[in-house]
Amino acid sequence: MSHVIAIANQKGGVGKTTSAVNLSADLALRGRKVLLIDFDPQASASSGVGIELIEKGEDLFDVFFGRVALSKIIRQSQIGCLEVVPASRDLVGVEIALGQTQGRELVLRSELGPLQWAYDYVFIDCPPSSGLLTLNALGAAQSILIPLQAEYYALEGLSALMQTIEFVKRTFNPSLELLGVFVTMFDSRTNLSVQVAREAKEFFNGKMFEAIIPRNIKLSESPSYGKPICLYDPLCIGARAYRALALELEKRCENLGNNIRNAIGNG
Ligand code: ADP
Ligand code: MG
Repeated sequence: MSHVIAIANQKGGVGKTTSAVNLSADLALRGRKVLLIDFDPQASASSGVGIELIEKGEDLFDVFFGRVALSKIIRQSQIGCLEVVPASRDLVGVEIALGQTQGRELVLRSELGPLQWAYDYVFIDCPPSSGLLTLNALGAAQSILIPLQAEYYALEGLSALMQTIEFVKRTFNPSLELLGVFVTMFDSRTNLSVQVAREAKEFFNGKMFEAIIPRNIKLSESPSYGKPICLYDPLCIGARAYRALALELEKRCENLGNNIRNAIGNG
């Protein structure tokens, strides 16, 4: 069973990319087949796993216009089980370039459909917006994973994200589920962090992950070496926290899978 997970939050700087990179890498190091799709024109997830963009030739932007198949632009990373679809700088303009083309929200879904079964996990690193790229990610995903930065206004804007999820469910992906929410950049020395974690738990109940990602300097250093944390410093607290989150995520995905199988079995 493959799990397609969109990591989304329309706020920037909340830990989406850091989480996409480190969850992908951790699962791949433990032998899961993983595809990481970098949907942000900033291309931080690509560089975070040491993949440089090719300036010439066809890329993710061209996939939106049917000029190249998604399967043709997949690249191997430094971890055997981790493959990557690098971002394209041109993605900035994809929304305008596509205009009102019909089915433009479902390009990723149709491209990924035949491919996804080769992977245990597909992670999509979304840009900080709820525009066409995020809609494509939510259209292709079975579930959405939301990082929450332990900062002022962490919960603000989440109702907009919930509305986006509801919209997607109503229109083009009825089976989209909220996989869960987790706290990032947690600093146990500040009351604020503790307060955000508590409020989030009240708001999201059972959807909150137990694992909490601390603020950890190693996590912010590792991208400049093109390495995920599990290669850069596997024993630091950041690496251990992402390991714990990955384990919890695997359990949740198994449960989702069982629910789907039961529904099919009973149907
Ligand atoms: P987003 O993708 O949501 O914009 P990023 O993952 O790029 O967010 O994180 C924003 C910045 O914060 C980056 O510079 C990143 O290295 C840093 N960062 C992310 N998570 C942590 C963490 N747990 N501890 C320290 N720095 C972090
Ligand atoms: Mg990002």
